[in-house]
Amino acid sequence: MEFVATVSHELRTPLAVIRSAAENLADGIVEDGPQVRKYGELVRGEGRRLTDMVEQILEFSGIQSGERRLNAVAVPIGPLVRDVVDASASLATAARIDLEQDLPDDLPPVLGDEPALRRVFQNLLANAIKYGAVGGWIRVDVRLQGTDVLVTVADRGIGISAAEQSRIFEPFYRAPDVIAARIQGTGLGLSLVQRIVRAHGGNISVHSEPGAGSEFTVTLPAASEEPIGRATLSEAAG
Ligand code: ADP
Repeated sequence: MEFVATVSHELRTPLAVIRSAAENLADGIVEDGPQVRKYGELVRGEGRRLTDMVEQILEFSGIQSGERRLNAVAVPIGPLVRDVVDASASLATAARIDLEQDLPDDLPPVLGDEPALRRVFQNLLANAIKYGAVGGWIRVDVRLQGTDVLVTVADRGIGISAAEQSRIFEPFYRAPDVIAARIQGTGLGLSLVQRIVRAHGGNISVHSEPGAGSEFTVTLPAASEEPIGRATLSEAAG
């Protein structure tokens, strides 16, 4: 019930903007070319935000209710991360960000759901680009620590205060400074990431300092040497 209430509240804001823009256009209050275009852009932007929100909500609630089953197969984690980094390269270049990666070749696979894991790193990289642009640098590295695979996404962007670090994994939470800076987002990405990682028996942690940058580390257990059949991952905790 609390989730439904929060979702409805969050959907109302972009809807209200779209409706008032539409009303001004329909009633002829806005007529001149540049202003009409400005309203068009507003509707397009808020419409996109609604689409993102609905997609993330569907994904999030599917995982939460256990409806969307995560299939576990041996996923080659190095190539998967490399793929995601390569796909983000043009976005990083456009934002004048130097995107570095350090991926050893001999990593063991991770037992997991490939699309879900892809989504984890896509979200972390998208955030690093959005909130790290001022630093002009992002680094993604993957390493093996004992029987765990650690993937770190680091940026030198706006950073996150200690008080906010404890809240950023809550659904819909967004730091006041990113809202004030009008950086677009739904506040659902990291909660989705955390759920997926936990469903894989892993963990996500953050180290950050305002003004200095952020470092998110995902820890995933490496798949064991024994042959693995298809299994279904446990439902996300929380
Ligand atoms: P969104 O990016 O859509 O707002 P997320 O759940 O992905 O939602 O992130 C929640 C909040 O955590 C963001 O609004 C922002 O305040 C903070 N955050 C996430 N990643 C970073 C980052 N790399 N640098 C600074 N702040 C971040």
